[in-house]
Amino acid sequence: MYAKKDLSFSALRKILSERFSNLTDTRQREKINHSIHDVFMSGFAMMFFQEPSLLRFQQSLEDDIHNNNLKTLFGVGSIPKDTQMRDIMDEVDSQELEPLFDDFFRPLQRGKHFEQYRVLEKHYIVSVDGSGYFGSDTVCCPGCLTKENKKGEVHYEHQIVQAAIMHPDMRQVIPLAPEEVRNTDGKEKQDCEINAGKRLLHKIRSSHPKLPLIIVADSLYSKQPAIEEIVSLRMRYVLTVKPGDHKKLMEWVNEQRVLKETSRMEVKDRKGRTHIYEWINEVPLNDNKKTVMVNYLEYWIEDRGKITCHNSWVTDFPVDDENIGELVRIGRCRWKIENEVFNTLKNQGYYVEHNYGHGKKNLSINFFILNLLAFFMHQIFELTDTLYQQLRKKMGSKENLWGCLRGVLNVLIFESWEYLLERNLTPSRFL
Ligand SMILES: [Zn+2]
Repeated sequence: MYAKKDLSFSALRKILSERFSNLTDTRQREKINHSIHDVFMSGFAMMFFQEPSLLRFQQSLEDDIHNNNLKTLFGVGSIPKDTQMRDIMDEVDSQELEPLFDDFFRPLQRGKHFEQYRVLEKHYIVSVDGSGYFGSDTVCCPGCLTKENKKGEVHYEHQIVQAAIMHPDMRQVIPLAPEEVRNTDGKEKQDCEINAGKRLLHKIRSSHPKLPLIIVADSLYSKQPAIEEIVSLRMRYVLTVKPGDHKKLMEWVNEQRVLKETSRMEVKDRKGRTHIYEWINEVPLNDNKKTVMVNYLEYWIEDRGKITCHNSWVTDFPVDDENIGELVRIGRCRWKIENEVFNTLKNQGYYVEHNYGHGKKNLSINFFILNLLAFFMHQIFELTDTLYQQLRKKMGSKENLWGCLRGVLNVLIFESWEYLLERNLTPSRFL
């Protein structure tokens, strides 16, 4: 047994199969020639093997070997054409796919791999950030966000707010279900990132009612209403603050600094750099009468007279010289979601900004979610599947790994995922 049983490829595929089979199918029965399961599973397989083009994927399926691999590995019965796939996927509400993030999360949470994500007093960091995954001047749907420039030209966009559990020392991240920034009542009142962010926080709390969480996010969230929302959901926070966005707070901190009321700590590292920490507890976030009181921390790295890094955060953890180092590491996870999630999805094989098809209702977000689920499954393998880890090490980059797997899938039929990995890890055993 290479992977933990309930996190193995076949266990996770079974989870997908069950959800896909039960998606709402609005087609008339007599007109169905491909099941909704087969449509979504084919789409997922394309993302899983990181195929950049739906049409190319479709064409490759016309040859028998590929077609058979989709049947053996993913349990797809009959394979739809690309146009059919788009039409059928467009009709399904993306909320029906969201429970899959919890389905993947539960076995991970039960296993020992999850414990290594703990930080400060057994909490888990949830980093939250917004990102666009589609933009066009011509292609659009009623759910598109619109931006008009001075010339009256309209630009269309799709954005999501994404959350992921992460640890400062771990490369692998655990994505949670995204929340779409989406127009529902036409152009007049556009949805915005902070509102979608609040909906996301509620969604996270209802999926994980007891998980001790620390929300890490940028200065869009370090405003009073968002902080009150976080606290009301029994979550902790470490949020970026910027001088431009928090003038009153910064004035207050500077006054306290002059009065020598702030605490300061300097640590030299082996490279000769100085890490400077400064903090003060119980300061008002703004000048409202009912301001929320926060604890403020600031951090610099000084390298041969130059400042190479400088950030500030507010938190509800009382800061002291024991926990300041860890709080800074937690706050810096704010950038990890950009690097390890968005950058990977956009630039390292997942082609998340590719236009696989936009649709009129849900196609674009459904493709995004399938892609994110493929990423999630790969992250689980990186954490738990020793065979996958060995092959990943052998192949160097992820692109190399998936390129190689796609290559052999074109010439051989594989009964199982494990066999596919073994065959690539030690080809000589199969001569
Ligand atoms: Zn759209």
